[in-house]
Amino acid sequence: MSKKQSNYIIKRNQNNYEVVIGLEVHAQILSESKLFSSSPTKFGAEPNTQVSLVDAAFPGMLPVINEFCIKQAVKTGLGLKAKINKRSIFDRKNYFYADLPQGYQISQYKDPIVGEGFVILDLPSGEKTIGIERLHLEQDAGKSIHDVDPQNTLVDLNRSGVALMEIVSKPDLRSPDEVNAYIKKLRSIMRYLGTCDGNMQEGSLRADVNVSVRKIGEKKLGTRCEIKNVNSIKFMQMAIEHEANRQVDVIEEGGSIDQETRLFDTKKNETRSMRSKEDAHDYRYFPDPDLLPLEVSDDFINDIKRSIPELPDEKKKRFIEKFSLSAYEANILVSDIETSKYFEEVIKNSDVKLSTNWITGELFALLNEKNLEITKSPISAKNLSKLVNLIKDGIISGKIAKSVFELMAKGDKNPADIVEEKGLKQQSDPKLLEQLIDKVVSDNQDKVKEYKSGKEKLFGFFVGQAMKASSGKANPQLINDILKKKLK
Ligand code: ADP
Ligand code: MG
Repeated sequence: MSKKQSNYIIKRNQNNYEVVIGLEVHAQILSESKLFSSSPTKFGAEPNTQVSLVDAAFPGMLPVINEFCIKQAVKTGLGLKAKINKRSIFDRKNYFYADLPQGYQISQYKDPIVGEGFVILDLPSGEKTIGIERLHLEQDAGKSIHDVDPQNTLVDLNRSGVALMEIVSKPDLRSPDEVNAYIKKLRSIMRYLGTCDGNMQEGSLRADVNVSVRKIGEKKLGTRCEIKNVNSIKFMQMAIEHEANRQVDVIEEGGSIDQETRLFDTKKNETRSMRSKEDAHDYRYFPDPDLLPLEVSDDFINDIKRSIPELPDEKKKRFIEKFSLSAYEANILVSDIETSKYFEEVIKNSDVKLSTNWITGELFALLNEKNLEITKSPISAKNLSKLVNLIKDGIISGKIAKSVFELMAKGDKNPADIVEEKGLKQQSDPKLLEQLIDKVVSDNQDKVKEYKSGKEKLFGFFVGQAMKASSGKANPQLINDILKKKLK
């Protein structure tokens, strides 16, 4: 099989450039309380109702580490097949902003809790491994609101102190499509683990996107620009395309790229310079004197290891080996844990191949159309399984099954009951079908002549007529067999 390239290449004049991308993903830890305080973290609460004295940085207040958040970070690290650092340090990252009451963010710098790992992307061209540089814990800041009061900027501290994991990739990504696959895979893994809900609309997953370009064949990385805080995959992809093309233009005009932080303007579809890139020393990082180094024991890590469910890659492998699914089918079914559960429930008592087709075909189309998650599916796994069995056992044809499916979608009914009520059972009685076909044949003597004189395409016409005469209920295989005999 030829491997399709997934690299994004930009051609200008005689030169071909490739794009190099590294992501810093900020994933909000799924936790009821904040990283260093017991304030709640509910989304959409009234402004400033989830703020403790610690979050508002009242003098003398001390941070207390939330053990659950540490577990979540370690769990995520294990999901990324990463090295867990048994000793990590919380540092202060100092900067001034109105929505950062402490005047510094507690983060991890030199000694993060999680070291190197990797994520496997499932691309149309095959699998590709993306390196993870590190995962560290940090606090979120509050939110400045500029568009409520024309005179003033308002500050909401509900997010202040919320636990984030910053997951830093190596510069291994090569196209907007790979970024799409990377974010989705990362999100899928964290949802399996229950460590981040991955909800981008609510800001639980955001990314800084680092982009550089270089001529193909060049070994050295180009100078990167960092696009801050992009909160949708589509915007990330647009920002990358735009930024990469901008950089190529600059280089082709004989200029050079300044390392800087840029903003993506979603309305104008362009990136704009925000500031020249700050260096680490600008932040005056130093270990937070209010927090001891964080030490985790082997027992602590092993307990978490035991709580980790089967993850998408392993599940995919099992589905392929055990159920003979294609890689494509397995990817679709494992990408979301609820879909994989639904699938396994359906196939407990039904044919795998047929079930897979119905889930990835009709069911996904239905969910798409109604914009529903599979957990809200109008058709339960149990009833879909029954439908598949009705087809497999020859009780109804695939075609009738589609109309039964539509009726099931209106209220999760047992398909056998629908078939009974509507009298949709497939007619498989050869005697009945023979009578029916005899009538079709005698009603269409002219066509029979044409058929016998060599117009074989007419066979389909007879099948159609016979199916119609049975209101679509005749067993198509039997119709075929009997017709062949009758038209000899
Ligand atoms: P900082 O915290 O200053 O932004 P990091 O060393 O943590 O710096 O790197 C941030 C991200 O930039 C990483 O995801 C890394 O993969 C990416 N990166 C580094 N160099 C390049 C480059 N030349 N082109 C694209 N991305 C890069
Ligand atoms: Mg950065």
